[in-house]
Amino acid sequence: MGQIKIGKVYLVGAGPGDPELMTLKAKRLLEEAEVVLFDRLLSPETLKCVSRGAEKIYVGKLPGRHKLTQEEINQLLTEKAQEGKMVVRLKGGDPYVFGRGGEEGLTLAQNGVPFEVVPGVTSAISVPGCVGIPVTHRDVATAVTIVTGHEKPGKDDNLDWNALAKVGGTLVVLMGVARLEENISALLVGGRSPETSAALIERGWSSEERLIIGTLDNIVQKAKEYDVKSPAILVVGPVVDLSKYLRPRTIAILRPDDRGEESRLLAQKYGFKPLLAPTIAFEELPLPEDTTKRIKEAECVVFTSATGAEIALKHPAIAEALQNVPLAAIGPRTKEALEELQLTVSVVPNKFSSEGLAYVLSPKFGRVLLMRSAKGSPVLVEKLEAAGATVDEIQLYDIAPSQDPRLDWLIQRGTPDIFAFTSGSTSRYLMERARELNLEESLRKRLKQVTVVAIGPPTVAELKRQGVEVDVMPENYTFEAMLAELRRM
Ligand code: SAH
Repeated sequence: MGQIKIGKVYLVGAGPGDPELMTLKAKRLLEEAEVVLFDRLLSPETLKCVSRGAEKIYVGKLPGRHKLTQEEINQLLTEKAQEGKMVVRLKGGDPYVFGRGGEEGLTLAQNGVPFEVVPGVTSAISVPGCVGIPVTHRDVATAVTIVTGHEKPGKDDNLDWNALAKVGGTLVVLMGVARLEENISALLVGGRSPETSAALIERGWSSEERLIIGTLDNIVQKAKEYDVKSPAILVVGPVVDLSKYLRPRTIAILRPDDRGEESRLLAQKYGFKPLLAPTIAFEELPLPEDTTKRIKEAECVVFTSATGAEIALKHPAIAEALQNVPLAAIGPRTKEALEELQLTVSVVPNKFSSEGLAYVLSPKFGRVLLMRSAKGSPVLVEKLEAAGATVDEIQLYDIAPSQDPRLDWLIQRGTPDIFAFTSGSTSRYLMERARELNLEESLRKRLKQVTVVAIGPPTVAELKRQGVEVDVMPENYTFEAMLAELRRM
């Protein structure tokens, strides 16, 4: 007799978007699932833990494809479970908070299919939290009301907004963009003061998070001005004002993607919320055939970026040749990248710049080989030659526009508090892309309103050439020093 396999459906909450805000149980079930049904997700990364063999079914709306109706989804869940499968129905936030999880559960119960709910971190509470708005706060708000701003089409809206106005405390509105204007005016008619603080939070817990703050009087206007789009949450009440103190400052990091993860962690360590928007990308260049020979002929080999060091060290023959010659690094991060492969760095200047390097190198070495980017500054060569050194140069990589959608998003919709420029090219390519998108003027306007930080003098000079004023430059020219300096402000 064949064994009877009993299927089961788990209604699982995925949390508000950040994959780290999934529960341990959700993660385990996704790993074990044979079938996963999911809607449009804020973070595709959430699905990374699903096993390769599992069947993944997208039930949301794709262009040119019709969206599965709720009945069809219910049907599909039942069928898959009845085939004996272990099914995960993944939903944003918590499945039982405006997630139609209850409806799916009811169908499964009616059909005699075993199921279980796995709660998730709901956006209703966590999205305000991510921008520094606690939904309750002693003496400020002792109640929180969570409502939907957008009832089912065709269904009578039986929510009494005038009465809601009288509840006081904090009001959190999900799905509130489409009917923002009607709902806000109902609150005003109901007697909530026009000066009450209100906030719209778009795509919380993602790198596309935006916070727009106003009052009941002007939030509709501001939503139009900033073109607020779903998914967003509206929060009404005095708790909104706390974000001034509790929200980490957001910093747009424009460096290339390969430095992105490292920068993200550093920015978080210093208490900032990083928004990654790479302006440039590196393209490795083919190495000249005589590279090792030229290394051997040099009295000192100089690296001016961690990226350059990493590219060079990928070639074992080069890594070996570099062991027998004094090495110089422009700063601590480049030094670290070289030391990762057990190389010894004998020279790091006090000032982490081309000038600083030229200053320490020129008295000591007659023959210097620079291994760096094709867009390296001519200052280093000029200074070294002026001091009597012979300079050879190998270009390891070139810099090109990133074509990263996150950059376009930053230019079109981003509202960071800080723009961080780690090289002249990051600023050149940002402006160039803004010009291509016809948004140069609006970007310039924003750059005037926010804090602009540049890593060192050449970057400051380049930004000046672009007509952008720099507010902060650290004493040591590293990304970490930029963050430390911003921290002091
Ligand atoms: N079950 C979900 C809510 C589903 S309703 C939960 O518990 O969070 C969908 C609405 O949730 C969206 O229209 C939006 O108002 C809100 N929402 C969900 N995730 C969000 C996010 N990351 N940022 C802003 N709003 C979000």
